[in-house]
Amino acid sequence: MNKKYNRVYNFSAGPAVLPVEVLETARDEMLNYKNSGMSVMEVSHRSKTYDEIIKTAEQDLRDLMNIPDNYKVLFLQGGAHLQFSMVPINLLKNGVADYIVTGQWAKKAYNEAQKYGKINKIASSEDKTFSYIPDCSDLDISPDADYVYICENNTIYGTKFHKLPNTKGKILVSDMSSCFLSEPVDVTKYGLIYAGVQKNVGPAGVQIVIIREDLLREDLPKWCPTMLSYKIHADNNSLYNTPPAYGIYVCGLVFKWLKKLGGLEKMKEMNEKKAKILYDFLDKSKLFKGTVEKNSRSLMNVPFVTGSDEMDKKFIEEAKNEGLVQLKGHRTVGGMRASIYNAMPIEGVKALVDFMEKFEKENI
Ligand SMILES: *Cc1c(COP(=O)(O)O)cnc(C)c1O
Repeated sequence: MNKKYNRVYNFSAGPAVLPVEVLETARDEMLNYKNSGMSVMEVSHRSKTYDEIIKTAEQDLRDLMNIPDNYKVLFLQGGAHLQFSMVPINLLKNGVADYIVTGQWAKKAYNEAQKYGKINKIASSEDKTFSYIPDCSDLDISPDADYVYICENNTIYGTKFHKLPNTKGKILVSDMSSCFLSEPVDVTKYGLIYAGVQKNVGPAGVQIVIIREDLLREDLPKWCPTMLSYKIHADNNSLYNTPPAYGIYVCGLVFKWLKKLGGLEKMKEMNEKKAKILYDFLDKSKLFKGTVEKNSRSLMNVPFVTGSDEMDKKFIEEAKNEGLVQLKGHRTVGGMRASIYNAMPIEGVKALVDFMEKFEKENI
C-alpha cells in the first residue's frame, strides 16, 4: 500500500494501475501546464503547447521502441475494438487474412473481420480454454493472405506468444494491448502493431497504432468512413480531428517515466522479476494453481484458481480487505487474475504472495 496517498495495490486487467510519479506530475501540472495558464484539457490541439506535447510523446515512444523511420505512429480513438475493424478495412487487398485465435480478443477480432473478407482461422487454442499458445512454426498460411493476425498477450487467459508465428513472408499484425512497452520488441517484424493504452500505458480512450508506411492506402473502399483510414490520420499526424488530447499527454508522461527508469530492457527485467515471484509461489502452492501451460505464461496477466469457487470468493474478499484489489478472474475463466503491469511495484507482488501464503496456511 502506498501510505502517502492511501492507495491500494490494484491488480485490475484494465483500466489499470499507473505510476504514482506520473499521477503526481499530472496533478502538479493540472491547473497551469508549464505556464500556459491552463490545463492540458483546455489547450487547443492546434496550439504550439499541444504540438510539443504530442510530438514529444511520439518521439519518446520512437526512442523507447526503436521504431524505424518507415513506420508511422498514430494516436487514435475507438478502443482496441475499433482496430478489429480498421485492420481488415485498411489492410485487405486480396480480401483474405489468416487469424490465430488464442483468446477472446483474437476471437472477437476474427469474427469482426468476417464482415470484410475471407477470414481464415489457421490456429486456435480454444480446445483447452485458451490455456496455451499453439505451435505456429509451420501453419497453413493462405498464399494470398494480406496479413496474419495475432493477439500477442492474451489478457484474459494469461498467455503470451514467446515466439512469433512463422508468417511465411506475410505481414504480421499484432494486438499488443496488454503487453505494450512491457519489453523490447523488434518493430521490423511487424506490419502493424496496435495497443489500447488503458492496460499498460495510460488512461482509456487512446489507441496507439504503429504501421509500416507502405501499408497506408489511398484506395480504400468507397464506403470506408474517413475516420477509419490510417492514411488520413498518418497524413495529419494524428490531428485530423481533435485527438484524445489529455490521454496522449498522460501517455507521454508514462513514456518519460519509462525512459528515466532505463527503457524497455530494464522494464522487462523488472517485469520478469515480479512475475517470477508469483509463478514460483504458484508452482509450489498446495492451494493455488496457475491455469496456463508454463511455456506460454504471460508476464502481465497471471490467472490462478484454488479449484473451489467458494474458496476463490473467500480469497478475493479477504485480499480486498488487505488492500489487494481487482483480483477476480474474468467472468469466462473464473478464479483469480493478478495483472502485474509495468506500473505495479514489486512490493505489490510481494504483498500479494505474502497474503496468499497466509491464506493458504489458514485454509488448508
Ligand atoms: C482490453 C483488450 C481489448 C479491448 O480493448 P477496448 O479498448 O475495450 O476495446 C482488446 N485486446 C486486448 C489484448 C485487450 O487486452
